[in-house]
Amino acid sequence: MSEPDFNQLSQDEQRAVAERLHKIAESGWKPFWCADPNCDGNPHWLTEEDADGTEVNVFVGADDIAGPNGEPLSGIIYEAPDGEWYVPERGVPDDGDEPVGRAVLNPKWAHNHARRDQRLPSWVKPWTLFIMSGRGSGKTRTGVEFVTLCARKGLDGAILGRRGTELVNTHVAELINNAHPEFVPIHYASKDILVWPNGATTYLFSAEKPENIRSVNLSYAWVDEAAFMDEIETAWMNLKLATRVKSPGNPIHMLITSTPTGSKWVQKMEDDDNVEVRRVSTYANRANLDPDWIEELEKEYEGTRMGRQELHGEVLRDVEGALWNDDLFNHLRLSDPVDFLNFVEGLDDRVVAVDPAGSKGKRSDETGIMAVGAHHFDDDGTPLPGSRFYTLGDATIKGSPAEWAEQTYRLARLVKATRIVAEKNFGGDMVKQVLLDYATIHPEKARNDDGDNMADMVKVVHAVQGKETRAEAVVGKYEQGRVTHVTSTTAFGDFSKLEREQVTWVPKNRGGRSPSPNRIDALVWAVKALETKVKHATSMASGAAVLRKLKSSPMGSVSGNGSIPMSRPAGPLGRKVVNWPNGGIKKKGRAA
Ligand SMILES: [Zn+2]
Repeated sequence: MSEPDFNQLSQDEQRAVAERLHKIAESGWKPFWCADPNCDGNPHWLTEEDADGTEVNVFVGADDIAGPNGEPLSGIIYEAPDGEWYVPERGVPDDGDEPVGRAVLNPKWAHNHARRDQRLPSWVKPWTLFIMSGRGSGKTRTGVEFVTLCARKGLDGAILGRRGTELVNTHVAELINNAHPEFVPIHYASKDILVWPNGATTYLFSAEKPENIRSVNLSYAWVDEAAFMDEIETAWMNLKLATRVKSPGNPIHMLITSTPTGSKWVQKMEDDDNVEVRRVSTYANRANLDPDWIEELEKEYEGTRMGRQELHGEVLRDVEGALWNDDLFNHLRLSDPVDFLNFVEGLDDRVVAVDPAGSKGKRSDETGIMAVGAHHFDDDGTPLPGSRFYTLGDATIKGSPAEWAEQTYRLARLVKATRIVAEKNFGGDMVKQVLLDYATIHPEKARNDDGDNMADMVKVVHAVQGKETRAEAVVGKYEQGRVTHVTSTTAFGDFSKLEREQVTWVPKNRGGRSPSPNRIDALVWAVKALETKVKHATSMASGAAVLRKLKSSPMGSVSGNGSIPMSRPAGPLGRKVVNWPNGGIKKKGRAA
């Protein structure tokens, strides 16, 4: 197809072309898929060849408002002390960092567009793609662009949504919103179809009526929020039966998008070798999300097992025979370090337990290091009928003895531990020796804030009952609501890994095969140590009072099912680094 030469057109034709272009520009329509298969979806920077023929970025000064030909610009780029360039997330740079300038953007790709994880697999092969994603990760947009692309190719297909209203309010609305002004579909509500300008038809099916998916011939289908459909088994089977048209060059393509659940159907799809599963975290799309909204989500989920599903798109499987399940977890989130410190000091006792890697009967190479605190008394100093337990930190680490010894002392210092315990039976003496040796070599690192040598608080404990019996006893405390996971912004305040182990480990006496995970063993030891040594209790400030104070405080909140505020973790929420689509930032050619 050759492009007509604009200058060869008549005046009327030229005017018509200009009007079309104007209309497209006016509509705000922006393309979604760029040509770079490795694109991260960020705006492309404009490049030019320098004197020796190298492609370099075009920069202007920080005060400029447009490129040399009126092109749009990136935000102001700053240079960090380590030489890295970044555009501060809310425009505010780190203290003392100097502005470098702004990048000139390629006008066609000056907006956020398809990321690598939003790209479709090769068109020429048939595929079923399941995008399991955290909330707000951009899956709806992926589906909308997929349907639009199929329609452009003249294919008939279907969208399966949870409810008719949702199909109209979300899917139809988004398809029309994102449509090219010359390729807008018409929605025939009475027929539940969309008809595209080229005659291609998109059927709208609701999972409430899976029997409707019949007597249609489809080439593609998009199933959205599949994990939340009661009738998904039937609907999916009917969809598969209906997708039978194969036009040359257009094999069948099925796209499933959903925040996953542990439902049987989702697990079946995850285990199906013919299904390509992609996990996309909420953070992948943070450039397009309201930071406050992300913060809210994090308050709710980060650091908890549910967060793996809601934020990271991981499937949570209910494991038959596992001792714990989701309902057993209570969370308290302390996002302010001061709140955490107050809470820790308000406890009657705090213990760190170490379960070393490589001990007998272990498959794990992690050393479990858990801190747990307890309330033994109420406000008046009367012993509670049953002590209450709070996980304070998970410092579990894969590392050398020196590394886990250091980690143990870090955690013990943080939670103001009164004891560090390790089991005698399996390497207990070894653990003690490692901790003592480490303290001798690095006395500073083994000292707590009161100046005590924490090596003096290392205790070896003896197992009387079997491992599984001890674990079951701790589960009993969870069932009584006496255990709370205290997630925090400290280095050790994330319990999602512990919770994952808790809900997936099946003890041998319940038909399991794997040995108990080190985190659980450490947790069980810590609880046991707290229970048997109530005499260590230092009933100073009442923990219950601290809890009550927190309940009324806007900084921390307490709830039965884990509504817990937390500030941003360092990893995915650090400063935003400017990404150069071709890999790395080239400083050459920067403007002063
Ligand atoms: Zn791109």
